[in-house]
Amino acid sequence: MQYVGNVIRPPSEADSIILQVAVGCSYNACTFCGAYKDVPFSLKDDEAIKEDLLFAQKYCRNANRLFLADGDVLILSQKRLLKLFRMIREYLPWINRISLYGNARAIRSKSVDQLLELKAHGLSRIYMGLESGCAEVLQAVKKGETPETLRAAAASVNEAGIFLSVTALLGLSGVTLSERHAHETGKVLAAMAPRQIALLTLIPLENTALGQDVLAGRFHLPGPQTILKELYEVLFQLTETRCQFHANHASTYLPLAGRLPKDRDYLLRTIEHAMAGAVPLVPEFRRAL
Ligand code: SF4
Repeated sequence: MQYVGNVIRPPSEADSIILQVAVGCSYNACTFCGAYKDVPFSLKDDEAIKEDLLFAQKYCRNANRLFLADGDVLILSQKRLLKLFRMIREYLPWINRISLYGNARAIRSKSVDQLLELKAHGLSRIYMGLESGCAEVLQAVKKGETPETLRAAAASVNEAGIFLSVTALLGLSGVTLSERHAHETGKVLAAMAPRQIALLTLIPLENTALGQDVLAGRFHLPGPQTILKELYEVLFQLTETRCQFHANHASTYLPLAGRLPKDRDYLLRTIEHAMAGAVPLVPEFRRAL
């Protein structure tokens, strides 16, 4: 497979064929995100994609899932996406799950009928970044969204019956807004009703505006105890949510995963024990993005 730049995929796509159909992210403005900073957004042409499909046809026959990279593939036109799904069906007919990243802006670019059409052509799963449910934090990190627009985007995906996985970022508010960030993120996640929630923990990157703010002392990174409190508060708000819950990304201080609501009490107790020092935390040097 021929990849341009960094190819990033969600942890749940570890066993998937990664087919890069676009390079970078068309938005590329979030202050915490260094994934595609120096890569202008562009589309790959049919010939390059066909070559990768032929490679996958020959060497990836054991994989039955496929992830379309890069950062916000859902922003591609409906016509282009339908063509890509047809090509996947033609070259890799055994694929039974196609997923992609779709930010709220990209989701908004599609009507529910268009999302339904994409689903009928094979789109099974959309990974969306909420990052925070707090309007002030979203504005500070230039997410370009409000809690309301993020909730509306989730509602469209749910209405189309496509599996929605939502990511939020612990620590993103810095120290001052930490309690509000956690409380409102939990509330908005509950309202979004995703099928999967993934909580990551901020690790500032030097090539980002937020990373530069940390170095200059303008942004104060919350320590592990504050992050555990955020984790607890987010989970505490998810009283009725039925979903898979992951806080076991490599950036975490406390790897946790379970099914909600079944495992919620157990997960909350584990966080309490960790806050009391009875569960060892992942040491700083082991954390990674
Ligand atoms: S929309 Fe996603 S990929 Fe694009 S800059 Fe923001 S966090 Fe990064």
